[in-house]
Amino acid sequence: MNKTPISWTQYTWNWATGCTKVGPGCLNCYMFRIYEQKRIQDPSKVVLHPERLLQPLKVKTPSKVFVNDMGDTFHSLVPDELIEQAFRIMEELAPWHTYQVLTKRINRMRRFSQGHPFPSHIWAGTSVETRKLWARAEMLKEVSTQVRFLSLEPLLEDLGDLDLTGIHWVITGGESGPRFRPMNLAWARRIRDQCVEQGVAFWYKQGSGYFPESDKYLDGMVWHNFPAPSIIISDGLKVGQTTRRDQSEAVAPKATLF
Ligand code: SF4
Repeated sequence: MNKTPISWTQYTWNWATGCTKVGPGCLNCYMFRIYEQKRIQDPSKVVLHPERLLQPLKVKTPSKVFVNDMGDTFHSLVPDELIEQAFRIMEELAPWHTYQVLTKRINRMRRFSQGHPFPSHIWAGTSVETRKLWARAEMLKEVSTQVRFLSLEPLLEDLGDLDLTGIHWVITGGESGPRFRPMNLAWARRIRDQCVEQGVAFWYKQGSGYFPESDKYLDGMVWHNFPAPSIIISDGLKVGQTTRRDQSEAVAPKATLF
């Protein structure tokens, strides 16, 4: 596993790398960019790395682990047997971590979960970048899991009114890199407001730009919340709903369930 600058996780664990593009969010995929620049592998070929499966055991501190950020766990060329082995590692051999499994192949994740429900330390997520792709979120609601999350990035348009029933965590942000497509902050605000209204933990990752990683403020605040009962703080404010004097580095939850 490698430490990662991705703000909402701590490690990446890549036992299946490479992918094929499935929608507008994939257009400027960073995995393609990195692999093409560094000539590490053909990014459009799925390569399996079973020798990396045991890597989580080497990190003893409980951590958040993004599973296969350089590919897609539920790509059709990743065999069921390998996915089963990875789940065995996550469930039995290194269950002290929290695993974040994010896929655009949500139909396959849904089918897999029906025979293999996810425990609470394996979070199930999918990406939605345009209104037309909201069907993925509806499918996520049918995944047999305890924690569901949406990655609404790169946010490419106003997603409109969202029904977040059954969703525990929402991440949003703009696109990075040389060919970034600009994100209107009003689109992100609308998502944030609906998360607050519907009691869903909200994470604003970044604006859009060549290097937007340091642009983590939305209306002067950092919105970095994980799904947990701790989204309600003792003074009755929801995390993120701070007063202006609190608008520095925000609002990390005081405790998390997971
Ligand atoms: S699904 Fe993810 S990894 Fe695969 S091409 Fe799209 S953005 Fe890249």
